Amino acid sequence: MKCVYLYHFAEQVIGQQRHYVGYTTNLPRRHAEHTNGQGAQIFKTAFNRKIGVSLVRVFPNGNKSLELFIKRGVEAHCPMCVMFAAAEFQLAEAESELADEEI
Ligand SMILES: [Zn+2]
Repeated sequence: MKCVYLYHFAEQVIGQQRHYVGYTTNLPRRHAEHTNGQGAQIFKTAFNRKIGVSLVRVFPNGNKSLELFIKRGVEAHCPMCVMFAAAEFQLAEAESELADEEI
């Protein structure tokens, strides 16, 4: 199956990078390589530093142009980052409501 896939790392691995977007025709083989620290430097570094990595999204029938599109705004396509951003927004709202009540 051709697909584009997205990995989210538990913390920043290289510089600011905490995602990997790729394209493959064999996701099971690629996943096995990546989770063993192979296939790209970011996986090797994460593997050696024991940083957790999760396959968080698969785009079936994706192609190279979709891969490039996802790479340009990866956080908006990552369900983990979208969830964290929503929680941080709700926390900020809750804090601002508390501040209003204290007035
Ligand atoms: Zn993410």
